Amino acid sequence: MGPRDGFQNEPEVIATADKLALIELLGRAGLKRIEVTSLVRPDVVPQLADAEQVLEALRLPADVSVSVLVPNERGLERALAHRARIQEINGFLSASETHNQMNVSRSIEDSLAGLERTFATAAAEGLRCEGVISTAFGCPYEGRVPPARVLAIATRLHAAGAQEVAFGDTTGMANPVQVREFFRAARETLPGAELTAHFHNTRGQGLANVLAALEVGVESFESSFGELGGCPVPAGATGNIATEDLVSMLHEMGIATGVDLAALIEAAAAAQAVLDRPLGSHVLTAGQIEWG
Ligand code: ZN
Repeated sequence: MGPRDGFQNEPEVIATADKLALIELLGRAGLKRIEVTSLVRPDVVPQLADAEQVLEALRLPADVSVSVLVPNERGLERALAHRARIQEINGFLSASETHNQMNVSRSIEDSLAGLERTFATAAAEGLRCEGVISTAFGCPYEGRVPPARVLAIATRLHAAGAQEVAFGDTTGMANPVQVREFFRAARETLPGAELTAHFHNTRGQGLANVLAALEVGVESFESSFGELGGCPVPAGATGNIATEDLVSMLHEMGIATGVDLAALIEAAAAAQAVLDRPLGSHVLTAGQIEWG
């Protein structure tokens, strides 16, 4: 998610050429699914105002699935103008009414209705659809978010054509026991859907939450190189889990990912150079484990 969740939350606008170079490094590291940008209004998120240029100029291996975040039906229209460059779209909403209002100025019900239309149009164009539910494990404004509400939203998204549903711990409030119980229930409620975990490392619990999700059969994780990323509201809710920390842990546990960790670390180092500040990723700082 780095090129989207990450670049979107940087205070400075990253040059398009730098973005392209960084995304291409991620492709070369063997990542097979990359969310490259969001078709959000340029006046709202100037950091991603070059979405169309990025899509058109991007050179990735043919087996990389390119995904874009579409905030609404207008975003999907813009994405479809570049249909040949895209394999997947991600549509999102929050499980918390307050967070959804603050993030997209709509009720959950209005967001769901929009996503149902968006996924129907996208599916008709042959695009894979992912529904992303933010604040699925807790909301900074509302506190606890009932799992039953999250799963009811997920069920609507899946019925609307989302093969995959991602559950976001947008502000880093989840703990491993909660994660294990949640995904156990999600598997029962949504037997046909691909379930994905999207953890932020805001409070340092991201990889512990990954392990908990792995233990109940989750196989798909969203992360961001260099631990880039965050959430626009509230300010300071920083940091997806770092892809290189995730890949390092999985490899050490004997779980293959197909990702070349050394190449991934190079990509994160390149991002650090472009952004000109130390990034949060541990493996980037400490380096890959050498067993000799
Ligand atoms: Zn995120």
